[in-house]
Amino acid sequence: MARAISLIMAERIPENLQQKLTERLRYYEDMGIRFFYRDRSAGAHSQSPGVPVPSLEIQKGETTLAKPVRKPEPRKLISAPARKIDVPPVLTGPSLFEAVDKIAGDSLPQIQADLGDCTRCKLHKGRNKIVFGDGNPKAELVFVGEGPGADEDAQGLPFVGRAGKLLTQMIEAMGLQRKDVYICNVVKCRPPENRLPEKDEVATCSPFLLRQIDAIAPKVIVCLGSVAVQTLLETHRGVSQFRGQWLEFRGRKLLATYHPAYLLRNSNSKGEVWKDLQKVMAVLGLEVKKGKSS
Ligand code: SF4
Repeated sequence: MARAISLIMAERIPENLQQKLTERLRYYEDMGIRFFYRDRSAGAHSQSPGVPVPSLEIQKGETTLAKPVRKPEPRKLISAPARKIDVPPVLTGPSLFEAVDKIAGDSLPQIQADLGDCTRCKLHKGRNKIVFGDGNPKAELVFVGEGPGADEDAQGLPFVGRAGKLLTQMIEAMGLQRKDVYICNVVKCRPPENRLPEKDEVATCSPFLLRQIDAIAPKVIVCLGSVAVQTLLETHRGVSQFRGQWLEFRGRKLLATYHPAYLLRNSNSKGEVWKDLQKVMAVLGLEVKKGKSS
């Protein structure tokens, strides 16, 4: 990163732009982003060296030269001469998360220190407290929610409102306590009116979540609701499309289930969530006890 900054300095870039670029690079460094990649799909449209460009091979009998103007003949249906088209392979750039390297020796206190009194996205304007996360820094099980609500914003702790109480009951039904697991959210500041976090807010805050997951190194990640699963799996599909299936996130087992706030409104779905949690218990070697699903 220092090299990138010195390169900026070496270029003939106006001073105010240099300063902005330097700040931006330092910000990425805080988030653990060490490497940057060229947008290869954009390069596919340019003629830069090394990037394959579709070629049209003209077959015998065809010509690219202008032909003399002749009286038009009645049109006949004929098949077009064959042309060989070399289609370049699909080029996909690395995702933001692939660009976030695991930082050796990273720790929750270090991540929290890097986050600081964060003003990186607009959510900072309405928050009272940053809700960083809570629980066992070496937990085998991490729950990821969407963002803090009013109670969480007031206390600076995740899942302490009504939905949080239900999550606590779910954790206890698994034979665990809150201090055994780690609980955090995709965004760490409360979205106004409890709206969903917006794309830019998620993009700005979620690399810190990624560092938290890497630092804790859990066996299992449980995504609570659509925002969490959409963020970690980088998809637009909702939680119901993934619920109860074992998925993988950076080499770890990931399972998505309904958010406890959804269960408060749809208690009929509690049974489905309990089935999901039983799958988690099986992976963690926890004993399933009868009568714990209510
Ligand atoms: S939501 Fe995250 S990125 Fe935005 S201000 Fe809060 S801590 Fe910073």
